[in-house]
Amino acid sequence: MTPTNDELFARAQAAIPGGVNSPVRAFRSVGGTPRFLVSARGPHVTDAEGREYVDLVAGWGPAILGHAHPEVIAAVQDAAARGLSFGASTPVETELAELIEQRVAPVEKLRLVSTGTEATMSAIRLARGFTGRDLLVKFAGHYHGHSDGLLAEAGSGLATFALPGSAGVPAEIAALTLVVPYNDLAALRGVFAEHGDRIAAVITEAAAANMGVVPPAPGFNRALVELAHAHGALVISDEVLTGFRVSSAGWWGLEAQTDDASTPDLLTFGKVVGGGMPVAALGGRAEIMERLAPLGPVYQAGTLSGNPVAVTAGVTTLRLADAAVYAKLDEVSAVLQRAVSDALAAEGVAHVVQRAGNLFSFMFGDAVAGGVHDYAGVLAQEAWRYPPFFHAMLDAGVSLPPSVFEAWFVTAAHDDAAVSRIVDALPAAARAAAS
Ligand code: PLP
Repeated sequence: MTPTNDELFARAQAAIPGGVNSPVRAFRSVGGTPRFLVSARGPHVTDAEGREYVDLVAGWGPAILGHAHPEVIAAVQDAAARGLSFGASTPVETELAELIEQRVAPVEKLRLVSTGTEATMSAIRLARGFTGRDLLVKFAGHYHGHSDGLLAEAGSGLATFALPGSAGVPAEIAALTLVVPYNDLAALRGVFAEHGDRIAAVITEAAAANMGVVPPAPGFNRALVELAHAHGALVISDEVLTGFRVSSAGWWGLEAQTDDASTPDLLTFGKVVGGGMPVAALGGRAEIMERLAPLGPVYQAGTLSGNPVAVTAGVTTLRLADAAVYAKLDEVSAVLQRAVSDALAAEGVAHVVQRAGNLFSFMFGDAVAGGVHDYAGVLAQEAWRYPPFFHAMLDAGVSLPPSVFEAWFVTAAHDDAAVSRIVDALPAAARAAAS
């Protein structure tokens, strides 16, 4: 007999901490049993009980083409048949680096790694090595992976030396990170005025999407670059989530059209660049990137870096992601934003649609209805309205991110039938959120 999700979760919990290999998958913030997925195709995922869901998680971002795109799968199968891992240079790695460099002009040189965490961790080491400085500035509510210095939480002040955001992070490490409220240039100026000559870099999500979606205020990224540069610090734009999802040149591509002065020194990528396999990257100005080993003194390495099968998935995905794919992502995103907002409004649920390019999320309550610009705003919402909304959608066969603090991800495979299934599920979900 096929095991149920409940049975699989019980077994997983006995073998794996919390039954999961990444915490948000455990459904802690929405309650209930996580679905154990066994396959995915196009806009759908299927669980171990054989139930199919329209998916708005998209592997947490990579699946812009939809799941298991036939050409990506064929290319991966072909690569796998030629060997899984060489630990040596391969032609396809250079191809991926060139593709990214052609699309994102500030990336003159690129180094491949396996996860977004590694990309940001390495970018920070590189920024420190390049500037000879130790301090890092990050914004409250931004997520850059789980390396020690980035798991830092703000203290109570406006801009403060961080406290460890996780057990196991030494206070001395967290104290090298300064946490500033997002979209608050005055606070950032204050930090630079006080510590400017010790700051190696500011790291920022190109558009924040790990506390729900909170876009940068117009001109914020540009002002941030100008301020950092005036103090001899670098800017690391973390495009792990936005890169090659919000446009063919990521968030940089959206902003560069109107504001080409906001050029970061280093950029990090993940998710889409691996097409669903473990590939991430850091890139930027050649002068900085060439400080990496073997050319320079900043050490960085990886047994699986540039893995040929994974990189093939990334290259094939990027090659297939043409203008029509981005137009479709934008269209589906716009349709869903409106449909969800209308359904919530029809039930009198105060909310705001937060958007950054085709990324979007919803925040609930009168306190946020005017729009949210920082983490304090995010926390002011009626987050308790999301779990009943989430479960009503899940019951109707729609898989949403299992936390109100996550972006929703569409794919270019979300056809009319998939969108209709989502739209049809909304009235009952909005009613659940209202009660
Ligand atoms: N940076 C950003 C902006 C992310 O969204 C994430 C993951 O969600 C990371 C870094 C970490 O990437 P990974 O989970 O591949 O380590």
